[in-house]
Amino acid sequence: MRVLDVDYLVVGAGASGMAFTDTLVTESGANVLMVERRHRPGGHWNDGYPFVRLHQPSAYYGVNSRPLGRDSIDQLGPNSGFYERASGAEVCDYYQRVLDEDLLASSQVRFYGMHDYVGRMSAEHQVVNRLTGEVTNVRVRHKLVDATYLETSLPSTHAPSFDVESNARLVTPNELVGLTRPASGYTVIGAGKTSMDTCNWLLDNGVPPEAIRWIRPRDPWTLDRFFWQPLALLPWLMEGVSRQVEAAAEAADPADLFGRLEACGQFIRLDPEVRPATFRGAILSAVERERLGQIENVVRQGRVLRIGTDEIVLKEGSIPTDGGQVHVDCTAAGLNRAPIRPVFEPGRVTLQWLQWGVLPFSAALIGFIEATRDSDTDKNWLCPPSPPLGEAAHWVRALDVTLRSQVTWQSDPEIAGWMERSRLNVARGVSEHVDDPRMQSALGRYLANVQPALANLEQLCKQLEALATT
Ligand SMILES: Cc1cc2nc3c(=O)[nH]c(=O)nc-3n(C[C@H](O)[C@H](O)[C@H](O)COP(=O)(O)OP(=O)(O)OC[C@H]3O[C@@H](n4cnc5c(N)ncnc54)[C@H](O)[C@@H]3O)c2cc1C
Repeated sequence: MRVLDVDYLVVGAGASGMAFTDTLVTESGANVLMVERRHRPGGHWNDGYPFVRLHQPSAYYGVNSRPLGRDSIDQLGPNSGFYERASGAEVCDYYQRVLDEDLLASSQVRFYGMHDYVGRMSAEHQVVNRLTGEVTNVRVRHKLVDATYLETSLPSTHAPSFDVESNARLVTPNELVGLTRPASGYTVIGAGKTSMDTCNWLLDNGVPPEAIRWIRPRDPWTLDRFFWQPLALLPWLMEGVSRQVEAAAEAADPADLFGRLEACGQFIRLDPEVRPATFRGAILSAVERERLGQIENVVRQGRVLRIGTDEIVLKEGSIPTDGGQVHVDCTAAGLNRAPIRPVFEPGRVTLQWLQWGVLPFSAALIGFIEATRDSDTDKNWLCPPSPPLGEAAHWVRALDVTLRSQVTWQSDPEIAGWMERSRLNVARGVSEHVDDPRMQSALGRYLANVQPALANLEQLCKQLEALATT
């Protein structure tokens, strides 16, 4: 049996594990073993549907030490006027290059692809080669890093929670591109970003909106891509942040907060008539949202229980279907909604969100704190995890944690300096825009409202907790 001695054992080489490891080895002399069940890094991006893209700009995705893409602004298509967004294939290629040309080349990192982490046996951790069954025991001098805690579930790898009769046609978005005969219509099942991408892809490829039926048990709030732009377009982002902070400072209760966010263009409905119940951070451009609005056949009768050859049974009713109908499963949960736990514990780091919406940044900052601070108490004080998103109300706590941490980090010169250098920090480079009147206005309102917002968010969170216990 092979035995290895390492400083850190990182389990999972998705976006979280890669961003953490990249920063850790940049900031320290640590040696790291990365263990990954898949054959290469990139996590869920390896199993994504062929038309998947980042929903945020590439400019602040990936790892700190290597740019993703060219930081150019698209001139054509639904993303026109906004920073480029990598396709799934580009994201996978990027992570492979980061591994081969940066991490392995540093000699600080070893990568065990096709290996499962199976657990700890007394003082040693065990990893198993999925091809040979060979066991390697790993002695970890510093910490095990769990980069699987938020592991993503996808249509291509999950099992749907509903029954499907053998003659009914159910496909994943991955399989859509391989269809060889026309369908009598398309029924898209699910209300998350995957279903939005799938509907837009069908429309892009000539399927008329009347031929698409969208089963959306609960509508999500969506975000406007206009307000998620970095670099030269940063004043737009700061404008959005200042509007959120203003709304948070003034809201009388959680419902009022969402009303204000909607009124100032920060949160947007898919259907103006239906109040959303969920929020998972889906970002759309106005063009994409407008196109989705062309689909009028939206089914709101709860979750699907069974797909038959002539009927779909839902929790609150049933609708007809037929043998020529293609049903597209977009119901996978996406990121795991495991409960928050301390990021730093004796012998263990658990990668989680520190800022809602920006996971690679969160993982890289955890890597920086791990490399540069000593006590777990101090590290946890600097890194309170932000709760997973799901119900719309969860976002209120996530905003509270995000804003509070920003204030903490900005008051620490070492962390503030690192953030200003970090390409994963969407808000880097504010000082380059101080002469821009739009930035001056946004910053002024942010600074005037952030402390009142934090005081008010505490009250709003208490109201939500009281509601949850009644
Ligand atoms: C379609 C889609 C689009 C998205 N777009 C964006 C976006 O634009 N911006 C954004 O910030 N986020 C986006 N996300 C969220 C996205 O999930 C995160 O950005 C990120 O990729 C998640 O990375 P992760 O490393 O936490 O999880 P994963 O990608 O799931 O990686 C976890 C890894 O751990 C491995 N693993 C698990 N258990 C073991 C074990 N026991 N032993 C060994 N290995 C193990 C898995 O094989 C996997 O590779 C998107 C998500 C989806 C589904």
